Amino acid sequence: MREGCAVKLGLYIHIPFCRSKCSYCAFVSAAPRDDQEMDRYVNAVMTHIRASSNMARNRELSTIFFGGGTPSLIGGKRLALLLECIFETFSIADNVEITLEANPESATAELFQHLTPLGLNRVSLGVQSMHDEELKQLGRIHSVATVERAASAIREAGIPNVSMDLIFALPGQTVRRWEDTLQKILRLTPDHLSVYGLSFEEGTLFHRLNQKGRLEPVLDETYVRMYNRTRDLLTTYGFWHYEISNWSRPDRECRHNLIYWNQDEYLAFGAAAHGLFDGIRHAFISEKETYVRFHEQHQKQRDRLYFNPELLAEYKRLDVEEMASDVMIYGLRLIKGVSIDRFINRFGYSPRDRWQEAIDKFERQNLLEQKEEYLRLTPQALLISNEVLQYFLD
Ligand code: SF4
Repeated sequence: MREGCAVKLGLYIHIPFCRSKCSYCAFVSAAPRDDQEMDRYVNAVMTHIRASSNMARNRELSTIFFGGGTPSLIGGKRLALLLECIFETFSIADNVEITLEANPESATAELFQHLTPLGLNRVSLGVQSMHDEELKQLGRIHSVATVERAASAIREAGIPNVSMDLIFALPGQTVRRWEDTLQKILRLTPDHLSVYGLSFEEGTLFHRLNQKGRLEPVLDETYVRMYNRTRDLLTTYGFWHYEISNWSRPDRECRHNLIYWNQDEYLAFGAAAHGLFDGIRHAFISEKETYVRFHEQHQKQRDRLYFNPELLAEYKRLDVEEMASDVMIYGLRLIKGVSIDRFINRFGYSPRDRWQEAIDKFERQNLLEQKEEYLRLTPQALLISNEVLQYFLD
C-alpha cells in the first residue's frame, strides 16, 4: 500500500522538555533535571510504541511529527532511537513526512547528523521574532544570530522542507517592526511559515502581567493591519496561504497538520500527547513522571495496550454528529475550505442539511461562501473565525 491508496495515518510524539519557560507559553513543558530524566522518558515512549504495534495493522504511517516542548533539546541520539523504534514497529509509507520541531539554540549540525540518515525531511524552527529585544520580551533564550546559525545548519544538513514559526502583535510592536521581521525571515528562504498572533493564555507570565495592567495587547486595528500585511507580503513572495495561520511554497504544506485539519487519524505517544484513532479522541496524562513509571513497571507485560486506562486523561468515542462537527470546525480553518463531496461521502448528508440556518446567515454576512464543491470562510472572516466556527459545534 502506498500513498494515494493507503488510508493516511499520522504519528505524533510529544517531548515535554524545554530549557526555560517562554513568557507566553501555556504548553506542557519543563526543564529536564538531568540526562537520566530524558533517557527514562525516551525509554517510556519506546515501550509505549512497542506496546501499540497492533494498532496500525494494514496501515502505513504517512507522517511522523516530533512536537513539544522542544524536541531538539533531547539531542540527536535519543531522537534517532525513537525514530528507529517507530520504523521497527510500524509500516512506513515511501514518502513519509518526518518533522522535528526545533529551537534555534539546539538546531545544530550534530543534531542533524543523527537524523538525516534516518529520513528526517522537515524541520519546524521556533524563531518568533527577528529582533533581539522582542525575543527577550518573549522570554526566548536565543538571539537573531542563533536563528541565522540554525537556518544554515538545517540547510547544510540537506533538509528539504524548512518551516519557521513567528509571532506578531507583541505588546508595543508596530506594523513596520513586524514587517521588518517578515522581511528578515524571507532572506532565510523558508519553505513554510506558521504565523500566530500573540494571545494572553491563562497560566502564562504574559497573562499575569496583563491582569495586573502591566502589559497591554496591541490595538485590534494594529492586529488586523499586521495580519493583512503578512498575507500581502507572503503572497508577493510566492507563498500559498493554505490555513488561517499557515503559508507554504507550492507542495510544502505541512502534511501532518493537514491530518488534524481534515480530521484524519493519528496515533500519539508521550505525556500530554493527543490523538484521534478509530473514532476515539484521546489524550495521555500530562504528568510525565507517572507516564514514565507506568512504562517502567509494565515493560515486560505482554498485554500492554495503547489505550491503557491508567495513562489516559481523555478517551471519547465520537459519535457521527460530533465527528461531523469537528470536520467543519477544523476544516474551515483551511483557506480552501471543507469539501462538501467528501463530507457527504463520510457522513451521508451535506453540511447544509444540518446547518442550513447558520450557513445562510453567514453567507448573507459575507463570512462564508461556496466555491465549487468547497464551503469556506471569506477573507473577512479569517480573523474572526471563532465567531463563525462555534455555530458548527451543535
Ligand atoms: S520553547 Fe516552545 S514549548 Fe517551550 S516554553 Fe517556549 S514556547 Fe513553550
